[in-house]
Amino acid sequence: MANPVVAIVGRPNVGKSTVFNRIAGERISIVEDVPGVTRDRIYAHSEWLGQKFSLIDTGGIDTGEEEFLTQITEQAEIAIDEADVIVFVVSVREGVTDADEKVAKILYRSDKPVVVAVNKVDNPELRSEIFDFYALGFGEPVPISSTHGIGIGDLLDQVCRSFPNTGAEIEDHTTRFSLIGRPNVGKSSLVNAILGENRVIVSSVEGTTRDAIDTPFISANGDEFTVIDTAGIRKKGKVYENTEKYAVLRALRAIDRSDVVLVVLNAEEGIREQDKKVAGYAHEAGRGIIILVNKWDTVKKTNHTMQEFEELIRQEFQYLSYAPIIFVSARTKQRLDQLPQLIKRINENHQRRIPSAVLNDVVMDAIARNPTPTDNGKRLRIYYTTQVAIKPPTFVVFVNDPELMHFSYARFLENQIREAFDFTGTPLHLIERKRK
Ligand code: GDP
Ligand code: GDP
Repeated sequence: MANPVVAIVGRPNVGKSTVFNRIAGERISIVEDVPGVTRDRIYAHSEWLGQKFSLIDTGGIDTGEEEFLTQITEQAEIAIDEADVIVFVVSVREGVTDADEKVAKILYRSDKPVVVAVNKVDNPELRSEIFDFYALGFGEPVPISSTHGIGIGDLLDQVCRSFPNTGAEIEDHTTRFSLIGRPNVGKSSLVNAILGENRVIVSSVEGTTRDAIDTPFISANGDEFTVIDTAGIRKKGKVYENTEKYAVLRALRAIDRSDVVLVVLNAEEGIREQDKKVAGYAHEAGRGIIILVNKWDTVKKTNHTMQEFEELIRQEFQYLSYAPIIFVSARTKQRLDQLPQLIKRINENHQRRIPSAVLNDVVMDAIARNPTPTDNGKRLRIYYTTQVAIKPPTFVVFVNDPELMHFSYARFLENQIREAFDFTGTPLHLIERKRK
């Protein structure tokens, strides 16, 4: 189901971020960076010989400690918590240092596979010096030079060989969802309230450690759901969990593994900048989205309060116009009973397929009602529309000239498709293609 995760660890200056950029960079393979964190560059999607994986640069996670040994300890712990395979970067220039040994000691404590990458092996003469790194105890070290791009393929071969063997995917009918939002909006309270109102399944199937905190449950209607753990929901206690980058990383991981994402806002405090950032991640990832306004019990209401709040949200989150808004309270449980059905519906919409014949009827009707635009006397012609993907639903529109498809007309077509079919809660992707 979810792609395996590779984490890069090592003391400062060995070249972790250079290795990260090298692997995530366009030279290696298709990379679809998560917009919004491009600057931070701590998390990316990558692919090697058809194997997709997510990549984390733990060196980019500032755990807020002054002492660098504490920093690297925590970064190594994050790698153990989050990754399926750990790339331990060292430098041939300095040989094995005390700090390297410290990192190694922490990594011994986990049973995750570790691949040692000896960086800065810029020329062949240096290759004989990599054997010292056997002493770290993780088997054969891989010599690389991340600035020169040498050995990266061998490293990735080794990494991919170490991925856990997932075997055949277990067919399941569960709808996976996560709750994301800034601290204190009430994510854990909501999860607890939801689980309190539904029947939690005690699973006998052993998941991976990383997935173990996901909780499956059955709703009153008998539908299966799995709530995916996000930052700080149920394992509060570690120092690094309070750092912003770690929270972002956990949210991105949770979004990756979800069908539907519940973006939680706090009615008591209104909308903050950070809410928009968080919601942006879910939108960019193309997941189904529901906006949850929590702590609705704290708001003094008149007849218009809900409508006003809704208008404010629509204004502030214009790109989420497809997401339904629901006003809830983890404290009083208000409307929480409606959630499972709503999540299920959004999940169905997210994977809805429209037969081409029906789709083209809708598009042709739309064109008849609102003729295609012209530019310099040249009219946009739409020949055919077809759905090419789900999650999110993606449509290809074959046209005479993609340049003629103005943003506003694409928006009009999307709205017509939304009027004809239930796509509530899911983004739609429209791609214009030139028909030869
Ligand atoms: P990090 O702190 O571990 O993330 O290390 P950086 O990626 O920031 O690299 C630290 C320094 O090492 C930078 O000046 C890099 O240019 C340099 N560096 C990284 N990889 C190599 C390499 O393969 N060869 C050489 N000669 N220098 C490198
Ligand atoms: P998280 O950091 O997003 O997981 O937020 P928590 O679930 O830890 O909640 C933060 C605080 O808000 C706690 O003190 C909760 O008791 C409180 N809280 C959560 N949901 C509600 C709610 O619906 N109404 C009220 N009044 N307080 C809430």
